Amino acid sequence: MKILNKLNVFILAVLFLISNQIFAQDASPLKTVLTNCSVIDCTGEAPMKGVTVVITGNTITEIKHGSYQQTPGEKNVKVFDLEGAYVLPGLWNMHVHLSDLLPDVHNMLGHEPTLPAAIRAGRNAMDALSRGFTGLRIVGERDYIDIAWRDAFDAGVFVGPRIYAAGKVVTPSQGNPLEPDWPVEIYADGPDEIRKALRENIARGIDFVKIFAPPLQADEMATIIELAHKHGLKVTAHSGGESAHRAVVAGVDCIEHGTMISDETIQLMAEKGTFLCPTVVCNLSEEYIREREDRLAKLGFSDEKDVVEGRILVAYADERPQRVAARHREIIVKAAKAGVKILSGSDSNPLGELGILEIEQLVLSGLTEMQALIAATRNCAEMCGVLDELGTIEREKIADLIVVADNPLDNISNLRKLKMVFKDGKPVNLHKDKGQSSFWELYFK
Ligand SMILES: [Zn+2]
Repeated sequence: MKILNKLNVFILAVLFLISNQIFAQDASPLKTVLTNCSVIDCTGEAPMKGVTVVITGNTITEIKHGSYQQTPGEKNVKVFDLEGAYVLPGLWNMHVHLSDLLPDVHNMLGHEPTLPAAIRAGRNAMDALSRGFTGLRIVGERDYIDIAWRDAFDAGVFVGPRIYAAGKVVTPSQGNPLEPDWPVEIYADGPDEIRKALRENIARGIDFVKIFAPPLQADEMATIIELAHKHGLKVTAHSGGESAHRAVVAGVDCIEHGTMISDETIQLMAEKGTFLCPTVVCNLSEEYIREREDRLAKLGFSDEKDVVEGRILVAYADERPQRVAARHREIIVKAAKAGVKILSGSDSNPLGELGILEIEQLVLSGLTEMQALIAATRNCAEMCGVLDELGTIEREKIADLIVVADNPLDNISNLRKLKMVFKDGKPVNLHKDKGQSSFWELYFK
């Protein structure tokens, strides 16, 4: 017995030493080093070449010229030689409806229960992360699916992008004539009902407020903005033309779509610091939306032919009513020139592919590549109130990053040459098996 006891004590002592060793190693956070790369930090500065970026835990701790020299005996370091590739902040898609389907080929949306919609929504978000989108702003979602996925990703239940959620869109009872009975809306008339609707959203845990502006009366708009701002929540308005002007005057923080807004509205937005999310790839006119479902369904998209799809969609988008399309391009360029901060948002799914396409469309509309990149990174973090942590590559910021093989300032479509994605300082497995079928095959065929 005594020998056994001594043996036990010895074993326990050894185990104690080993565990101490393990804890000693775990105590220092993992250092992730990206070396031999170029950095486009998206602050607007020119790219830095021949750079090393050091990430400690989830934080960018060093950005310096030259290759990384590992000190002998240095532990807990993971070095990635990027062989001249380009490092950028993670991309954002700022106008997202996770569970929406356009075209709704199988006529699912009208009668689909919440659970399959929620599953599709999560798949859509996780696919977007593996296309480089580390941030999504959800501007209207049914049954608070956006909040459920946000919390699941934040808690690490699944690896997904950061989500900023609006919950349901606050809309007068007449609703959106283009999409009647859309389950993403919460109907309210008059200041009292508006307050109730907003409180329901706030109780669910929204990050900002989305309103459907065109039919809102001045007192309704004022009630929403006052209550939202009192809760520290920004307000964004689906609006264009005259309704966008009213919304800007009333004090919204952002305009979605902004179709046919006047030069006067652009000037006012610049003065008041109102953001513009022009959603170039879609939602330009009633006529355009009516035609889109039929025509996209006939195009036979395939996940394997991303670039081809992009070209088809670009060509298609150019067929919108010329007057509206031309003015929209003019609005984007004028707004950027006046100092309005532009945001990149697709309003269409799958939001990874369409998110890239929107950034390309911003360049086709007349923005520089740098302006388009900033619209998909820095400005998004500012709109979501997290610019001190995300949106650019700077010391002490969180390492949400992408690595692309070639320079997107030479050709914006180089964003498609994605090599790596880092979320919260950790590399994302881009090729993880997500099931046999692509999103297109599952829901658009
Ligand atoms: Zn939308």
